[in-house]
Amino acid sequence: APQSYDVVVVGSGGAGLAAAIQAHDEGASVLIVEKMPSIGGNTVKASAGMNAAETRFQRVKGIFDSKELFYAETLKGGYNKNNPELLHRFVENAPQAIEWLADRGIMLNDITTTGGMSIDRTHRPRDGSAVGGYLISGLLRNINKRSIDVLMETAVTDILFEQGAVSGVALLTDENEALTVHAKSVIVATGGFSANSQMVVKYRPDLEGFVTTNHKGATGGGIALLEKLGAGTVDMGEIQIHPTVEQTTSYLISESIRGGGAILVNQKGSRFFNEMETRDKVSAQIIALPEKFAYIVFDENVRTKNKAADEYIAKGFVVSAEGPRELAEKLGMDYHTFLATLERYNGFVENQYDEDFGRKTALRNPIKDGPFHAIRIAPGVHHTMGGVTINAETEVLDKQHQVIPGVFAAGEVAGGIHGGNRIGGNAVADIIVFGTLAGHQAASWAKR
Ligand code: ADP
Repeated sequence: APQSYDVVVVGSGGAGLAAAIQAHDEGASVLIVEKMPSIGGNTVKASAGMNAAETRFQRVKGIFDSKELFYAETLKGGYNKNNPELLHRFVENAPQAIEWLADRGIMLNDITTTGGMSIDRTHRPRDGSAVGGYLISGLLRNINKRSIDVLMETAVTDILFEQGAVSGVALLTDENEALTVHAKSVIVATGGFSANSQMVVKYRPDLEGFVTTNHKGATGGGIALLEKLGAGTVDMGEIQIHPTVEQTTSYLISESIRGGGAILVNQKGSRFFNEMETRDKVSAQIIALPEKFAYIVFDENVRTKNKAADEYIAKGFVVSAEGPRELAEKLGMDYHTFLATLERYNGFVENQYDEDFGRKTALRNPIKDGPFHAIRIAPGVHHTMGGVTINAETEVLDKQHQVIPGVFAAGEVAGGIHGGNRIGGNAVADIIVFGTLAGHQAASWAKR
C-alpha cells in the first residue's frame, strides 16, 4: 500500500466507512485505519434502524412526517441539551442520507418506531432484520468495490502537523511496529467510550458495575487523540444506559421488539411503565424495581414480524410457552396477575388508549397468539452522548471554538448532537449524515 493519502480515516464503524466512500467518490485517495481485528466497530451491533423524516420510503407507506417534528422530538428526548446547529443539520440531511445509502445498494425501506418518537421514522432493512450487520456489510461491499485501502489491527496514536497543517498520522500495529503515513486531512470516526469502564465511572460514578452492550474497541481513544491537539469536549457525563440488555451475555435486546408491540412486566407479572418512553426513563424504572430486572413479553405475532426475535431464540435468551399460564409458571410469576395484565393491556390496544401508563406508540396488536415469549433484561451502558466538539461541517473545534484545520470528526466520538439522551435510531442517522459530510469536507480540504 502507498504511504501517502489525501485522507486518512480513523475507525471502520459506520461513520468511518461512509466518510471513506464519500471522500473516494469525490476523487480523494483514502486509507482506513482500524485498531480491532474486525470491521464495523460498534455500528455492527446497531439494532433498531435509522431515523429520518420526509423520506421517499415513508411516502410510499403513506406515513406523513415532518422535519420540524423530528427536530422537536429529538430535542425533547435530549432534554433541550442538543446543540441546535448540529441537530438542524442532522434532521435536514437525514432523508438524503437514506438516499445516499439506497444509491449504494443499502435499502432501509421497512419502517418502525423507537421510544420518544411519535411517528414511524426508524428505517431498517426490508426483512425486519437488525440494521447494523446489514449496513456494515453493504458499506464494506462498497469499500471493496472501490479498492479503498484498509489497515487492520493498527491504531492511530497521533495526528501529525507540519507548519500548522495536517501532515499525516502515527500508527502502532498490533505487533508493536510504529509507522507513519502521510495525509492531507484526517477524519476521526473512532466511536464512543462505553467499554472503558474507568472513563465511564470517572464521569458517572453511579454507573460502577454496569455491564456494557458495546464492543471491546469502544474505549474513547479517539477523544484522547483529539484532546492532544487541543480539541474541546462537551457533555462527557451524558452516558446512556439502555433498558433492555440480556445480562449474562451483555447482549442488547432491540427496541424494535417493543416497537413491534411487546410490553415490559415485572416479576409480579405487572406492567410498570410506558414501554415506549425514552431509554433513560425506562432504565430508571427498571432499576427502581425491587428485583432490578424485568421481562420483555411478546406473542407469536410480534415474533414473526421481527427477525431479531428469532436470533434471540437461537441464542437461548427466550423463555417460550404455549399459553400465558405456562409462561407465568416458567417465570415464577403469579398467573392471575399476569393474565390480568395481558387482558388489561389488550383492552388498551383495542381502545388505542393506555389508561395506566399513557403508551401512545406501538399499541399495535393484542398479545394473544401463542406461543408466548419472554426475555429477562436489565439496563447496561450503551452510548456516550458526549465527545469532542465539532461544528455542523464536522470540523473539530478547540476549547476556544476555533477550527483545527484539516481535522474532522463524525459519529459517536463527537458530542452535542444527542444532548442529554439519544433517541433510538438516531445514532445510525448520525453516522451516515455526518460521516458522509466529513468525507466531503476532508476530500475538499485535500484538493484545496
Ligand atoms: P461510529 O458508530 O461512530 O462509526 P463505531 O464504534 O461503529 O463508531 O466505530 C469506531 C471504530 O473505530 C471501531 O471499530 C474502533 O475499534 C475504531 N477505533 C477506535 N479508536 C481507534 C484508533 N485510535 N485507531 C484506529 N481505530 C480506532
